[in-house]
Amino acid sequence: MSNLVTQLTQLAKITGAPEADLTIVAEGNIAVLEPGTNRFLVKASGVVMGNATEDDWVYLNLDRCAQILIDADKKGVTDKLDKAFDAILKESVTPNGKVRKASIETMVHVVAFHLMGATWSLHTHPTPVVALAASKDAAKHYSGTVFPDEAVVCGPVPLFLPYASPGLSLGLGVYQGVEKYQDKYGRSPGQIILGNHGLCTFGSVSSEALSTTQIAVKAAKIRVGALSSGGINFIPKKAAQAIAFRPDEILRRKMLSE
Ligand SMILES: [Zn+2]
Repeated sequence: MSNLVTQLTQLAKITGAPEADLTIVAEGNIAVLEPGTNRFLVKASGVVMGNATEDDWVYLNLDRCAQILIDADKKGVTDKLDKAFDAILKESVTPNGKVRKASIETMVHVVAFHLMGATWSLHTHPTPVVALAASKDAAKHYSGTVFPDEAVVCGPVPLFLPYASPGLSLGLGVYQGVEKYQDKYGRSPGQIILGNHGLCTFGSVSSEALSTTQIAVKAAKIRVGALSSGGINFIPKKAAQAIAFRPDEILRRKMLSE
């Protein structure tokens, strides 16, 4: 079994551990781009992260998936595109050649690989993040960063996206949200908050995606604490940007991912 499959399974066990409070039952998923190829591995549909085995990952073709997002970006989510996406999910195969349906949230990872240059993509449903993402003023609570490491590790401003139905609509929302963010900030978001849903983080190695998730969860707990203590006082935007782009902080972020 490939090294990537072993790493995926290890990361799934860590994120699916009950004490981590990142996913329960079949929630969440992980994907990794296979270096030097045009395919990626993603969790098969219905697999419980904490119980994942090396047989629970399936291969998908990145270009085929990305083309569906590009078409949806032009025409919107049509029945034809929905069916094409469903067909791709159903045709996916495990490294052992067994056909298994891929996760319906696959497109979130496709955006990470196609637009953001990430090779690891982790999607979870941490309780404090979902609590904020399901709150009345969710966008406001995520309009800035709350402590320096959040800006360093997750980027100067989180990308908050309103609720979208799981599947192609969710993928399209993330695709368009990331494009807008990149135009505005000249970099990719480090954390994406999906309204009423969860968290997406990324990396060039599995530990980077995990440490970014851990910082994002801590940042969510701090927001909840600040809201119960009279309201959130964000780091001033310019200061957050300065930290996020400072050379020594970029080096620190790099060291965190090693
Ligand atoms: Zn999800």
